[in-house]
Amino acid sequence: MKDIHAFFDHEEDYPDLDAAGAAGRLSRAIQCKTINCADHTRTDYAEFDKLHALIRESYPCVMAAGTCEVIGHHSLLITLPGSDAALRPCLFMSHQDVVPVVEGTEGDWTYPAFSGAIAEGYVWGRGALDIKNQVFGCLEAAEYLLSHGGAFRRTVYLSFGDDEETLNLGAQALAKTLQSRGVELEFVLDEGGGKIENAAAYGAPETYLSPVDLMEKGYADLELCVKSAGGHSSRPFGGTSLGRLSQAIARIVDHPFPVRLTPVMKGAFRAIAPYVTQEPLKTLVQDVEGNAGAIARYCYETRPLFPFVTTTIAPTVIRGSSEACNVMPQDMSAVVNFRIAEGETADEVLAHVRAAVADDTVSMRFLQSNDPSATARSDGYGYRMLTASMGRYFRDVVFVPSLTAGATDAHHYEILCDTCLRCSPFMAPPEDVARGVHGTDERISLRAYAQGIRVLIHLMDAAAVHP
Ligand SMILES: [Zn+2]
Repeated sequence: MKDIHAFFDHEEDYPDLDAAGAAGRLSRAIQCKTINCADHTRTDYAEFDKLHALIRESYPCVMAAGTCEVIGHHSLLITLPGSDAALRPCLFMSHQDVVPVVEGTEGDWTYPAFSGAIAEGYVWGRGALDIKNQVFGCLEAAEYLLSHGGAFRRTVYLSFGDDEETLNLGAQALAKTLQSRGVELEFVLDEGGGKIENAAAYGAPETYLSPVDLMEKGYADLELCVKSAGGHSSRPFGGTSLGRLSQAIARIVDHPFPVRLTPVMKGAFRAIAPYVTQEPLKTLVQDVEGNAGAIARYCYETRPLFPFVTTTIAPTVIRGSSEACNVMPQDMSAVVNFRIAEGETADEVLAHVRAAVADDTVSMRFLQSNDPSATARSDGYGYRMLTASMGRYFRDVVFVPSLTAGATDAHHYEILCDTCLRCSPFMAPPEDVARGVHGTDERISLRAYAQGIRVLIHLMDAAAVHP
């Protein structure tokens, strides 16, 4: 993998951009320990108040040009009104909250997790990549444009939830507030992507791609329960609860879900098709629609693409086994986690699993489930503008429609918008993302932070100031 900075282009744009000042403000943001606990009563909201105070004092032009409201508990909605009511507003979103540091790993950090240390060319700390970079990056971009006389014709919303990592109540409150005001959005930009990867999995090893996530897969935790009185293991008439539960799990795993090239993945292969040099894909992508089945089967066999073409099945938890080798277990339960493909639903997953298990003594219920998000348009204004700005600042990169197997809170805005794009302009090497996001030594390079701000200035300027 090339150095991520080798892809950066037009770093000379906006020569008076205060990159050092921006990094300092991001550093101070990281020092606010905005961890939101799933039990919100345990959250220290004073840290969110500190973050709000930092935002209000750091971006005077934004504060003067617009309104800044606290919505729901501690979510923020900043409205920068545009002069042309005929233009549908656009919305830049992210979240203020961060995940905690895994207990016992505090000492593994090169710089303390909430220090916001600026060292070795990086800003270090929890939230540097997920996702205070985007919260403050959006603010930097708006401040830059306004302080340079930019007059917004299209209304811009900056919308920052306070509990994306837990309950998403913030995003729901923000979206509902806008809905109650009759707002319809042209596009939404949320976190996602933020990486440049070699396209070898797509049969294009000489090419680098960056994903623009158009949708989020659905999510379900299915609990399986088997009841048993236990007893002496010398008389296991009818089998043990562990045996029946294991058999149920095995049947689920042995009945995979359909493998399909979804509309998003068709778009991905159409975008990458001109760069594909390896067979069998080289031939197959000449006709993505006609060869959709064969391409999907290829993806299914390819580790990085496998989750993109099917509903995945991951047994994750088993509880209640016997402590003693000669004692049969009593009631047992297991959890199987599903990530639901575009076009399927949680109800369909349950029906599929019931049919596969075919055992009435195994009871099933969802502990948690949500259907896949809608799929954002990739043929309209928002996608075109975003990829144009991204393309200016990252050279030799192909932007491809993609999806996320994880989840963010952008889907709450679908009631207002058909183009909810998940794509961060803050690029990190895949190993930094893997290690740092929700892990140890989360950090963003100073150049990557400044470059992401340039993308956002360019996009906000093109979409809102000079539409
Ligand atoms: Zn995030």
